[in-house]
Amino acid sequence: MVQNNIPKDYDHKKETRWQSKWQKDNIYKFIGDGTKPNYIIDTPPPYPTGATHMGHVLNWTYIDIIARFKRMQDYDVLFPQGWDCHGLPTEVKVEETHNIKKGDVPRDEFRKMCVDLTSENIKLMKAQMISLGFSQDWSSEFVTMTPEYMKRTQLSFLKMYHEGLIYRGIHPVNWCPRCETAIAFAEVEYHENETYLNYLEFPAEDGENGALIATTRPELLSACVAVVVHPEDERYKELAGKRLEVPLFGRSVEVITDKEVDPEFGTGVVMICTFGDKTDVLWVNKHNLDVIEAIDEQGIMQEVTGEYCGLNIKECKEKIIDDLKKEGYLKKQENVAQNVGLCWRCKAPIEILVKNQWFVAVKDLIEDVKQTTDEIKWTPPYMETRLLNWTGSMDWDWCISRQRIFATPVPVWYCSECGKVKIASEDMLPVDPTQDKPEGKCECGNGEFIGETDVLDTWMDSSISPLSITGWPDEKYKNYYPTALRPQGHDIIRTWAFYTILRCKALTGKRPFDEIVVNGMVFGEDGYKMSKSRGNVISTDDVLENYGADALRLWASNSVPGSDVPFAWKDVKYGYKFLRKFWNAFRFINMHIEGFQTSKSQKEIIENLNPMDKWILSKLNRVIKDVTESIESYTFANAVNKIQGFIWHDFCDEYIEAVKYRLYGDSPELLISKEAAQYTLQTVISASLKLLAPFTPHFADEIYQYIAKEDIRIHNTLWPEVNKKLISESAEETGRVGVELIGEIRRFKSGSKMSLNTPIKTLNIYTADSALIKEIELLSADIKGTMRIKDLNLMPGKPDIKEKVTEIIPQMAKIGPEFKGNAPEVVKYLQSENKDEVVSKLDSEGEIIINGCKITWDHIEAKKEVVTETGEKVEIIHADNLDLILEIIV
Ligand SMILES: [Zn+2]
Ligand SMILES: [Zn+2]
Repeated sequence: MVQNNIPKDYDHKKETRWQSKWQKDNIYKFIGDGTKPNYIIDTPPPYPTGATHMGHVLNWTYIDIIARFKRMQDYDVLFPQGWDCHGLPTEVKVEETHNIKKGDVPRDEFRKMCVDLTSENIKLMKAQMISLGFSQDWSSEFVTMTPEYMKRTQLSFLKMYHEGLIYRGIHPVNWCPRCETAIAFAEVEYHENETYLNYLEFPAEDGENGALIATTRPELLSACVAVVVHPEDERYKELAGKRLEVPLFGRSVEVITDKEVDPEFGTGVVMICTFGDKTDVLWVNKHNLDVIEAIDEQGIMQEVTGEYCGLNIKECKEKIIDDLKKEGYLKKQENVAQNVGLCWRCKAPIEILVKNQWFVAVKDLIEDVKQTTDEIKWTPPYMETRLLNWTGSMDWDWCISRQRIFATPVPVWYCSECGKVKIASEDMLPVDPTQDKPEGKCECGNGEFIGETDVLDTWMDSSISPLSITGWPDEKYKNYYPTALRPQGHDIIRTWAFYTILRCKALTGKRPFDEIVVNGMVFGEDGYKMSKSRGNVISTDDVLENYGADALRLWASNSVPGSDVPFAWKDVKYGYKFLRKFWNAFRFINMHIEGFQTSKSQKEIIENLNPMDKWILSKLNRVIKDVTESIESYTFANAVNKIQGFIWHDFCDEYIEAVKYRLYGDSPELLISKEAAQYTLQTVISASLKLLAPFTPHFADEIYQYIAKEDIRIHNTLWPEVNKKLISESAEETGRVGVELIGEIRRFKSGSKMSLNTPIKTLNIYTADSALIKEIELLSADIKGTMRIKDLNLMPGKPDIKEKVTEIIPQMAKIGPEFKGNAPEVVKYLQSENKDEVVSKLDSEGEIIINGCKITWDHIEAKKEVVTETGEKVEIIHADNLDLILEIIV
């Protein structure tokens, strides 16, 4: 326990001191010796951009709440932190920073530049994560670009290769001409834009009727390999089987039929090009058509396109449309909405090219993935449907090779003679085939090999995170695998979630995690995605500086997994205010509970609790139950609202006010009541702090140091248990009556500009409700003590009172102009005469004549007060929420 010299205000700048202390004392260390049940979190490894953003704050606050909660529930929690390092953005950044192109320097030099940049960025982000109060065990940090991690990624490649689940083949792949690499389907984003639908005349080879074909991609005419119509389309019965001339290119293609053709689109006649889209790929495979490669890896037209060779796609499209017009092939153009596939990293339109690439045999694993997905508990459940829908739409294998540098190398070579694949052996890993040489010879007898320059998709790294954190391939990994929880964003369900389930199942035969919690995205205050161009980006540093990590965490906690969340300054400020309110309340309470000790047993104290104590303890235990259940079901908003409502309103506003009078009493007869109040205050403060600890870890520890009996962090204490015996409907009803009654009198005092300490002579409570009478009898001491009431009487019936006129105010604005010279006489009468008589005469007759002047209610204002039969002034209050009348005599 710290000596109590509690500062007047809570200072959020103290958060950093706690962060250092937690790190120094290593309080989040995973032990892993099996003495406690394990709880392993498969934390997302973010891309090290160098800056954490609000999306990270949301995602990691959820993880941190769960990690801290589970630790307090006595689990041995592993909350590791990884970094998913590889990828194009770093390469691009390095090119910019050093003003080079990746080909300008040797591969290993370029790679080193990427490693250096990434290491710097990791350092920055790690510091930010610590400043947000996240409780990772940094001794389990993993970094995908290290030899240790690359060894695991390559080993997983080897194992799947030997199982026949990874293969090399020539297939159409999604290609980003900007990044100059193949990408996976999951990395293609579809966007709608407007383009021209061009109606082209394809003449028939036999000189009879040709066909009109509508296309958005005339630049692919040179790669046209067939024309297709629906077999039941009556308009084109004659066309099937004929050959049509490809405009401008002087060669012909066959008209085939296929049920996939949509007769409603364009003219119902479609040209198949290699490759305009996914359907083209399907048709080429199904009908065994030729493949013509018209576009190269940089998006430049190839020789096969004749005079268009060397143009880029856009230039080619413009020129071809011009030529089609000139030659009379273009019959009309109309605007049409088009769904364009874009590279998710650079947003360039993707092309479909035919490439020799490495693939994971997704199609062989789909059933396994579906079944495994179903074994996992999804929060919210509809996110599972997203994954299953994606799984159902999978008709291509996963292309895992990339034509880049900064990534895990594909661990293979090719024989320089026969081209056969030579795969690395396990004991060589990690291996870089561009540097290292394989052992032995090729089956053909040749000993020369060419190293693969392709590297692996970064999802090949991150999709084995559950294996990496549990220590795979060491057999001991089975002690920790499957992991308990995968927390992640909904934007990477098709990628990270899908690939992890697929790979881990293929490698271990088991699901990678028992549960997955999916978080939403964070938007700006204007409801749009945060972006520099929109100017709606909020930096975490700004919030930390002004309000601290705990206030920011309260904003993040006030949300529900799966739903997107707008950032809101007002929520951060509310959290900030809440913590200060709690701080001030604690400072006051601490004066009274500091060093509190009693010789009584807890049982004795509980027997002597007064009604307001029982009320707050019942509410507390209900809150413990609700918050525990809410965290367990990941409804964080509900948890945090319950705690805040309880502490702010029930505890600070009502309970503390209602016990103050008991804390000041020192007489022996008051001691029992005082001890009960002290006990209750201490119990509520301690349990509330523990409930808050996962949400506002700094604040909770800051206060806890003053009340803890020893030097121990609140995060190493146990979660409060629900004391069911203390949850009582009747105690809560009594407390509610007390809160309402005290509230009415408090409002009366502040409405009458009295201080809350102003004594009240008598309070008479009139009610016929016998249950209410019983409650009030129990509460009598608290009401009297809190509101400083001398006599409190419970009365039957209604107050016996009447109105008395205390003052008559002549309305000169009326009297002057109306009565002119007689006005002074009238005023004199009104002020001299018996006030009650004036009023009663006006009430009964409606007028009084003085010197011929007719005085009515228009000419006066009467001030009245309520008095008892004996003439004592009283206030009458009809309570809002209780069936009673209060009569107050000050
Ligand atoms: Zn790209
Ligand atoms: Zn060979």
